[in-house]
Amino acid sequence: MRYISNEEKSSCNNSFYMQFSDDQRSVASVYPFRITGYYADLIKTPGDAIWRQCMPDIRELSDDTAENDPLAESALSPVPGLIHRYPDRVVLLVSNRCAVYCRFCMRKRHIGCGDDTPPDSDSLDRSLAYIAATDSIRDVILSGGDPLLLDDGSLYDILSKLRTIRHVKIIRIGTRVPVTLPDRVTPELCNILKQFHPLFINTHFNHPAEITRSSHYACSLLSDAGIPLGNQTVLLNGVNDTPSVMRELMSGLLELRVKPYYIHQMDLVRGASHFRTPVAKGLEIIRALRGHITGMAVPHFVIDLPGGKGKVALLPDQVEREGDVLYFTTYRGERIAYGDIKETRE
Ligand SMILES: *Cc1c(COP(=O)(O)O)cnc(C)c1O
Ligand code: SF4
Repeated sequence: MRYISNEEKSSCNNSFYMQFSDDQRSVASVYPFRITGYYADLIKTPGDAIWRQCMPDIRELSDDTAENDPLAESALSPVPGLIHRYPDRVVLLVSNRCAVYCRFCMRKRHIGCGDDTPPDSDSLDRSLAYIAATDSIRDVILSGGDPLLLDDGSLYDILSKLRTIRHVKIIRIGTRVPVTLPDRVTPELCNILKQFHPLFINTHFNHPAEITRSSHYACSLLSDAGIPLGNQTVLLNGVNDTPSVMRELMSGLLELRVKPYYIHQMDLVRGASHFRTPVAKGLEIIRALRGHITGMAVPHFVIDLPGGKGKVALLPDQVEREGDVLYFTTYRGERIAYGDIKETRE
């Protein structure tokens, strides 16, 4: 498999690297730095929400509060590059590279590190053989790294091999390319993807400043190819941890035909603790969304539990029970009684 060849043109790592402090260089020697010219142009001032997501921060090196692999992904890998945690779905890691390396990445222990060549066909074939031999798998999620950094031919190859497996019903791709390298979304790419429906894409916008004419166009091409688009946002200290930013982001995404799917509590990954927020912050944000903006734009707030135990969705407390009566708190803060029944009628 091969990465896209126009990638180097889009990168402007060197011009940034020259301006780095010694601290930033030492961080980048442990956790690689990579940015596209497009994404760099979204930075308006040092320290803003875009800057924080992509610029090396010395706190990455002093963080020893968390683990390299908090979700025990290695332990849940029946073959390297495949994560099988839930009965009916697997994550297939098809790329070690992204257009921009997010400083909060939960796989920062290996994204862009060392040998970042894509998996060879042999290791892909081993994963596909496992999927083919496991009837319970109905949903395959291509992830990495960013699957859309593979070239069109490699993607076609993977998708067509997956589609020979009868019990695989759904294919999902997780990609940040519409946000960080929107030019990668070409009509040619869409023509390939749409041959493999039902195929879903979850993208990864974290801030309203990432909604631009270019990212809008990339999402439109994908939607017009019949691909339902979802979005997974990571809740990040100093980036998007206010109700007003999240409201603007979620409503803006829906206008792009991107359905907000998850807001993720930060994983406990080493080197990223400075991005963590208290769980109460996520609940406050959900409370500020539900009822206040169209329900179509309200995602689930989830925590991926340590040890690979799975995701749980959290809701703000809004119900108390007194006997058969439930008391709900509405989005306006009113307390409303609702009469429940003890059991269903015969
Ligand atoms: C998040 C995740 C999935 C997908 O979960 P959904 O809730 O179905 O989106 C599957 N496998 C692993 C290992 C995951 O982390
Ligand atoms: S795009 Fe996703 S996988 Fe890549 S660095 Fe960012 S968070 Fe990690």
